[in-house]
Amino acid sequence: MITPTPMMAQYHALKAEAQDCLLFYRMGDFFELFFEDARIAAGVLDIALTARGEHGGEKVPMCGVPVHAATAYLQRLIKAGHRVAIAEQTESPEAARKARGSKALVNRAIVRVVTAGTLTEEALLDARADNWCVAIGEAGGQVALAAADVSTGRFQVIALDSATVPAELARLAAAEVVACETGDFAGAATTLRSKAEFDSGAGEARLKRLFAVATLDGFGTLGRAELAAAGGLVAYLDHTAKGALPFLRPPVVHRAATTMAIDAATRDSLELTCTTGGQRKGSLLDAIDRTVTGAGARALAADLGAPLMDKAAIDARLDLVAWFHDDGAVRERLRAALRALPDIARAIGRLAAGRGSPRDLGQLRDGLDGAWALGERIGSEGPALLAEIAPRLRGHGALIDLLRRALVPAPPIEASDGGYIAAGYDVALDDLRDAGAGGRRAIAALEAEMRGATGVSTLKIRHNNVLGYHVEVPARAADALMRPDSGFTHRQTLAGVVRFNTPALHEVAQKVSQAGAHALAAEAAHLEDLTAQALGVREAIAATADALARLDVAASLAERAAEGGWARPKLVEHTCFDVEGGRHPVVEAAVARSGDRFVANDCRLSEGSRLWLVTGPNMGGKSTFLRQNALIAVLAQAGSYVPAAAATLGLVDRLFSRVGASDNLARGRSTFMVEMVETAAILAQATPRSFVILDEVGRGTSTYDGLAIAWAVVEAIHEDNRCRCLFATHYHELTRLAERCDALSLHHVRAREWKGELVLLHELADGPADRSYGLAVARLAGMAPQTVARAKAVLAKLEAGRAKTGGLAAGLDDLPLFAAAAVTEEQACDAIRAEVESLDVDALTPREALDTLYRLKALA
Ligand code: ADP
Repeated sequence: MITPTPMMAQYHALKAEAQDCLLFYRMGDFFELFFEDARIAAGVLDIALTARGEHGGEKVPMCGVPVHAATAYLQRLIKAGHRVAIAEQTESPEAARKARGSKALVNRAIVRVVTAGTLTEEALLDARADNWCVAIGEAGGQVALAAADVSTGRFQVIALDSATVPAELARLAAAEVVACETGDFAGAATTLRSKAEFDSGAGEARLKRLFAVATLDGFGTLGRAELAAAGGLVAYLDHTAKGALPFLRPPVVHRAATTMAIDAATRDSLELTCTTGGQRKGSLLDAIDRTVTGAGARALAADLGAPLMDKAAIDARLDLVAWFHDDGAVRERLRAALRALPDIARAIGRLAAGRGSPRDLGQLRDGLDGAWALGERIGSEGPALLAEIAPRLRGHGALIDLLRRALVPAPPIEASDGGYIAAGYDVALDDLRDAGAGGRRAIAALEAEMRGATGVSTLKIRHNNVLGYHVEVPARAADALMRPDSGFTHRQTLAGVVRFNTPALHEVAQKVSQAGAHALAAEAAHLEDLTAQALGVREAIAATADALARLDVAASLAERAAEGGWARPKLVEHTCFDVEGGRHPVVEAAVARSGDRFVANDCRLSEGSRLWLVTGPNMGGKSTFLRQNALIAVLAQAGSYVPAAAATLGLVDRLFSRVGASDNLARGRSTFMVEMVETAAILAQATPRSFVILDEVGRGTSTYDGLAIAWAVVEAIHEDNRCRCLFATHYHELTRLAERCDALSLHHVRAREWKGELVLLHELADGPADRSYGLAVARLAGMAPQTVARAKAVLAKLEAGRAKTGGLAAGLDDLPLFAAAAVTEEQACDAIRAEVESLDVDALTPREALDTLYRLKALA
C-alpha cells in the first residue's frame, strides 16, 4: 500500500465529506477537480483534462477552473444536474508555514455546497422565475411539503395527500427535491437525506431555534408531517450553507383546498408556465406576462400556477386589475416607475446568505426609495388591495436615510477594492483617505524633485503589486542612478527599463499603503454594520418587495387586458361556465402572425347542459376550443381578466385536461396505458365543481376499444362525476349518447366544402357534425389525388357495409346506462341475499340443494 501524499490525504477526507458532489478544491487562483470528478467536469465544461502526479501508481486525472470565473462554470455544472462542494483554503500559506513548518499543507474546509435549489447568485438564477427547494416530509401516514426559495427567503409549508405530491412539485417547478432516504418518496427525489433530519420532533425544535420563538402557534397549526418536511428542509439548507443558514421568512402554511387543484398532467397539457417542450415561450404565462420587474414575473408565474378558490380574494385581485385597467395613465406611470427599480427581494436574499455586496446595499437603497415614492404617489384611495399594499411601500425611512448617507451613488459588486462608502459619512475614514491622497500628492512631488536632481526627464514613479511604489527610468538613462552614491537602490532590470527604490519614496509609500489598508478595513466594518442594519428589518423589506410585485402583477394583467380587449370575469358560486366570444391567447397570437383572424366562440355550460360533446373535422379547432376554456378558468381564478367578450364562471375546484394518446408521443410507458391511467385519475377525482376537458380520449387503441372506452368515460362523467366537461371526439357514434344523457349536448366545429376544397371555419355550432371530412383533410394535407380517390372507394364500401349491420355502434342503444348498470348489480346482490336467507338448509333434499345452487349462479 502506497502512502498518499498529505495533499491527497486531505483531498480524500474532503471528498468523503462531499459525498455525491463534485469537489472544487481550492489551490491558489484555481479550483481543481481530481479523479472521476475531473472526468465529469471536463466533459460538461468542455475544458482540458490533464494529469497531476500519481496516486496508487496511476496518474491522477485533473482539471481546473480559475476562481474569478468560477460562477460561469458552476452554472453549467448545476444546469447539467450536478452538485458542487466548494473547499476553500481556510488559512493563508504564510500562516500555515508559521504554524507548521515550511512544507506545511494549507488547511482547507468545505464552506458551501452549491445545488440547484440553494442558489442566491444573480448569475446563477433566472430573474423571472422562483427557485424552490422542496422537502417531502412524512409522519403518521400523512405527507407534507416544505418549500423555500433562499434567494428571496420565501418559505411555505403545504399539507397534502401523497397522490397530489407530483402535482405540487409540478406547480412549484421545484429546482431541487429533498426527501428522507428511507421514506416512500426516496425514488421520486433527487437529493436523499438521513431519517434523523426528517424527524418531526427535531424539526419542531429546529424551527423554534431558527425563528427564535417559544411556540410555533403563530405560524398556524403544523401537523407532524409538516414539521418533518420543514425540519428536513431547514436541516438540508443548513448543511449546504455549512452552518450559515440563509434568510428564511416565517413559513406560510397552505392548505390545498384554498387553490384550484391542477395535476401534473393537466399543467403539462395546458402549457401554463412552460410548453410540453419545456420552453417558457409558447406558454400561457409567456402570452400574458407584461410585468416589468423580476419579482413581478415570479409572482405572476406563482399566481398562474395556483389559481384561488376564494371568491373574495379573487375579486380583490380583480378590483386592483380593474383600477389599473380603467386608467391607462396611472398604469403607465406605475409601470415606468417599477421598471426602474432593482430586485430588492433577491438583494436582501444575497445579503442574508453572506454573499452580499456593496451593490446589493445600493439596490436596497434605490429600491426602497423608489417604493416610498410610489407609495406617496398612489396614496390609499382606491380598491381594498391597494389600501393594503400602499402602507407597506413606505416604511423604511431610517434605513433609506442611512444608506443614502453611507454609500456612493453606484457602489461596486466587488468589496475588496473599497471605494463604496461615501465621503462625509465617517470622519476617520475621510482622514485616512486624505492621508492616502496626501501621500499620493507627496509622491508626485517627489517625482518632480527626482527628475530635477537626476536630469532624467523620463523618470517615473510607478506602482505594481510586486514592488509597490518604485522609480522607473529607461535603460539608457540608468547609469547615473546605478552609482552607489546616487541614493537609489537597484531593484529590477527589465528589457527596456530599470527600476529603483529610495528611502524617501519608501517612507511615503508606506504611509500611503498603511492609510489605504486602514481605509479598506474601515469600509469593511461599515459594510458589515450596514448589512446588519438591513438584515435587522429584512422581514419588512421582504414585505415591501412583495407589495411591489403585487402592483406589477396587477398592472401587467391590466396592460394585457387592455391590449387584447379582454373582459373582467364575474365569479359565482353555482356551477355555470358561461363564456361569450372566448379566445385562446396563444393560438390567437400564432394565427395573427400568419395574417389570419381568430374566430371567437361561446361556451355555455350550465347545470342542465354540463357536458358538451364536440365533433368535427381534424384541424377544425376542437382542441383550441377546449383549451381556451380551461385557460379562461385558470386566468379568472388567478385574478386576471379573460380573453372573451364576457364571462360568468362558477368557481372550479379541480381542473383536468387529457389529450388522447397519439398526440402525446414518446414517453416511457405505453402511451395508451398513460392515457388510461390519467383518465382513470379524472374519474376518481372530479367533483361536481370540477372542470374537465377530454380531447380524443380513446384514440390510442383500436377503433372498437377506443369507442367503447370513450363511451364509458362520457357516461361515467355524466352520471357519476357530474362535473362540467368538454369532450372532443371523432367518434361520430358517441353523438347517440345525447338521446340518453339529458345534460349532454352536441356541438361541432363548422367546415364547408367549396369547389372541391375543404374550408375550416373554426366556428362552433350546435348539433353533431354532418360528416367527418377525413378525406378532404387528407387532400388538404397534400395527399396524392390517386390515394384520396382510392380512399373514397374504400369508404363507400365500408359505409355500405355499415348501413347493413347498423354501424360501429350497433346494439349500443340497448345497453343500460352506466349508473343503471351499477344499480342492476346491486339488485343482483339483493336477490341472492334474499334467496339465501329464505333457505331452510336442513330441509333440503340433495336434489333441491343442487337446483338452488344453479339458481343462485344464474342470479350472479
Ligand atoms: P382540432 O383539435 O380540431 O384538430 P385544433 O384546435 O388543433 O384542431 O386547431 C387546428 C388549427 O386551426 C390551429 O392550430 C389554428 O391554427 C387553427 N384554429 C383553431 N381554432 C381557431 C379559431 N377559433 N380561429 C382561427 N383559427 C383557429
